[in-house]
Amino acid sequence: MTGNEAVTDLQRSAEEEAIHCVRCGLCLSVCPGYRESLIETDSPRARVALVRALKEGLLEAPTDGYSAAFFRCLLCGACTFVCPSGVAVNRILELTRGELASLGLLPEVLSDLDARIAQYRNISAEANEGRLIWADNLPTPPTGMGKERAEVAYFVGCVSSFFPRSYKVPQSLVQIFDRARVDYALLGGTEWCCGYPMFINGELERARDLIHHNVEAVQAMGARKVVVTCASCYHFWKHSYPAALEVEDLGLVIQHATEFLADLLETGNLKLHKLRENVTYHDPCDLGRKEGVSEAPRRVLAQIPGLRLVEMAENRDSSHCCGGGGNLESFAPEMSRAVARHRICQAAEVGAGTLISACQQCERTLTNAARAERIRIRVKDITEVVLEAMEE
Ligand code: SF4
Ligand code: SF4
Repeated sequence: MTGNEAVTDLQRSAEEEAIHCVRCGLCLSVCPGYRESLIETDSPRARVALVRALKEGLLEAPTDGYSAAFFRCLLCGACTFVCPSGVAVNRILELTRGELASLGLLPEVLSDLDARIAQYRNISAEANEGRLIWADNLPTPPTGMGKERAEVAYFVGCVSSFFPRSYKVPQSLVQIFDRARVDYALLGGTEWCCGYPMFINGELERARDLIHHNVEAVQAMGARKVVVTCASCYHFWKHSYPAALEVEDLGLVIQHATEFLADLLETGNLKLHKLRENVTYHDPCDLGRKEGVSEAPRRVLAQIPGLRLVEMAENRDSSHCCGGGGNLESFAPEMSRAVARHRICQAAEVGAGTLISACQQCERTLTNAARAERIRIRVKDITEVVLEAMEE
């Protein structure tokens, strides 16, 4: 298949989906980007209409403006979830991003991101060997460091490996693992970016090397299970890795840390102390709506005595994005901040003293929003909360 034929195929699939849109507008009410801007081209309905307009010849060819409409989107999946006509808007968005990238219409800032990942194997353009720098100031080195074989491989992800403010996520999880005597190993420099940022930029082909490498690195450890703390890495490993490798099954159990911890806390003999707090839980889009992992984190929180969970109105499948999805933070930071502000205000409205999430990206965007809005609310990752409850 030539490049051009591939492009045509992708476009045809998006067009076939788009035909089913009846323009009812229900998706506008849940689109976090549209809610902030109230500009029609920021709505899912408009994006679907643009695909149809191209097919029907109302537009000659995609332009930079056309491209911008598709990248000012969080890929949060809320539109797909509510659409009464069953339009797979997410698929339209992903396929169209792919077509735009192949036509050279990927916005420069996103193209630069992909070039960094291809060169450095991480989103930060740092030496990839430095992936375990967060372990430097732990009281004792994690037992999984330098281990060549283990039952569980912990896939840390780029943000937690290279953004100092997110170090506490892997720091917490390895301390939990060590207290619970879990047989795990860290990949360190052999962990490469999972490839999701490239995929959502429409460059799946460039991500294939990363995918192959990561699966081989885990298999070389003899691991049976991969545990992931990043919701997007988890979604990509679970949802797209088998398809990208053209296999039905990776032969590995992929678990988000919340699934692993829920089982560990319910079946283990770990003593947890009281934490007297009113908390709310923010479902990451890639974990809750897209992967259906909504109960495991709530099971974890239910194991901690003294925690009072207060739900926000938009929770589980209907969760509101944190503003960090779809590479929007790189392309349209002001919209990303506005979406995060909306979510942190929802947490404050239910009287939560702490907002807990299960993704370092959500934790980061929502912490920034709380600071910017001067809202007195703590934002924590669920691994931090579990470790606090385990500490004497
Ligand atoms: S909810 Fe579905 S059918 Fe209605 S406008 Fe949105 S995409 Fe079209
Ligand atoms: S994926 Fe989310 S941000 Fe993008 S159009 Fe749909 S609802 Fe809006």
